[in-house]
Amino acid sequence: MDDCIFCKIVRGEIPSSKVYEDEHVLAFKDLHPVSPVHVLIVPKRHFDNLCEMSGDEEGLDALRFIYQALPEIVRLVGLQGKGFRLINNCGASAGQSVMHTHFHLIGGRPLGAKIL
Ligand code: AMP
Ligand code: ZN
Repeated sequence: MDDCIFCKIVRGEIPSSKVYEDEHVLAFKDLHPVSPVHVLIVPKRHFDNLCEMSGDEEGLDALRFIYQALPEIVRLVGLQGKGFRLINNCGASAGQSVMHTHFHLIGGRPLGAKIL
């Protein structure tokens, strides 16, 4: 997508602090971290949101690639064995501000028992 900020990051047109990259997945540090570790994990291919991905085979493949990469990303950011939270905001009313599916990987401090 030409004007999608995360597609631009995937293409290297906008700088990012990369944590992990493979053929299908990119992980980079969030610009406004809410915890000592706050990484965004994105499919390289553009999907507007999680529901769109669940609806077709290529989207499901892209989700599988993300979950396959997750343990390595967790290891790279130093959270292995420490626990983390993986969050997806799906849709504007859930607070999704960038319409390219992404998962927030958050950790590095006690997160508490409640999500909010
Ligand atoms: P969401 O509100 O779930 O759509 O999350 C979007 C996230 O993208 C926010 O946490 C922003 O801080 C983050 N963000 C926006 N632009 C950039 C960027 N250029 N590099 C890294 N993170 C960004
Ligand atoms: Zn995109």
